[in-house]
Amino acid sequence: AAESAVHLAKDMGRNSVAFFQSGHQNDRLSRYRIASELHHALEHEEFSLVYQPQIDLVTGALVGAEALLRWHSESLGPVSPDQFIPVAEDTGMMDDIGVWVLGQAVQEAARWSRQGMPLKMSINVSARQFQRSEVASQVMAALHQHQVAPEQLVVELTETSFMHSAAATERELASLRDEGVRVAIDDFGTGYSSLSYIREMSLDYLKVDRSFIEQIEQSETDRKLVRAMIDMSHAMGLSVIAEGAETEADLTILKALGCDQAQGYYIARPMSAADFSRWANEYRPLPLAAMPERE
Ligand code: C2E
Ligand code: MG
Ligand code: MG
Ligand code: MG
Repeated sequence: AAESAVHLAKDMGRNSVAFFQSGHQNDRLSRYRIASELHHALEHEEFSLVYQPQIDLVTGALVGAEALLRWHSESLGPVSPDQFIPVAEDTGMMDDIGVWVLGQAVQEAARWSRQGMPLKMSINVSARQFQRSEVASQVMAALHQHQVAPEQLVVELTETSFMHSAAATERELASLRDEGVRVAIDDFGTGYSSLSYIREMSLDYLKVDRSFIEQIEQSETDRKLVRAMIDMSHAMGLSVIAEGAETEADLTILKALGCDQAQGYYIARPMSAADFSRWANEYRPLPLAAMPERE
């Protein structure tokens, strides 16, 4: 019963009316409205990428960034990815948008390397992209075109990708990893049957979902859960990245629990490419050395 309730809630979420903030009023946007405006978003150049830094919790050093998609619609204003990406997926538009994201992110990674800053670039790839297109060959083509080493790229995917078409996803992932591209499982702990996928898929990183970090200061249960995820990941040879670190205490606790890397508003919000480069140039490792060792 509990499980079907979760399914129901997810289905309702997907089909319900979306909200977004525009100026001073709250507007209701139908999926239809989003879909019709999305149609010309690519050709009107309404998309952009922002980059959120990821740091190493042992050294405090900047190690990479996650590319996050933004859409500023001419008629709708800014629409959040949680609203438009599901629509783009359902209408088949995510394939083309995904190719655009890949090209932009890989080009930016090449620029970082030329600036002497060969940071890891993480991109999000949605379940539908794995189902319908040849993700691995698209990725390899982009890396080749911009002369970026496969090892510099991390492909993030959620557990839902495995749910929808396990065989196709597994095949694409295996060929990406054969080429040296890294793979991360995103939003870990929020999907279904997490552990069986961890067992079957070959992965490099596990990203602990933000919902487990939100209360980490107050909740001993959440600290225990995160520690268990970290220990399990390490036993499987995976590195752990925590998302949504919003306070210094979050970082202190994550480091004490043995977490490898973190990203979150406390370190920095996602930034435009230009702002990210400036920020990265000025970044000095956060003084994590003073933090307590694992208890
Ligand atoms: P995600 O991949 O789990 O990305 C992390 C989300 O957490 C981002 O939301 C980021 O802005 C937000 N975040 C980061 N640090 C903090 C923090 O400290 N506190 C809070 N409250 N939030 C934080 P965003 O950018 O709105 O993206 C939402 C989701 O949309 C992403 O979740 C990802 O699943 C999807 N997405 C974004 N860009 C792309 C893309 O290019 N392709 C695909 N397929 N999906 C994307
Ligand atoms: Mg992600
Ligand atoms: Mg995530
Ligand atoms: Mg997410």
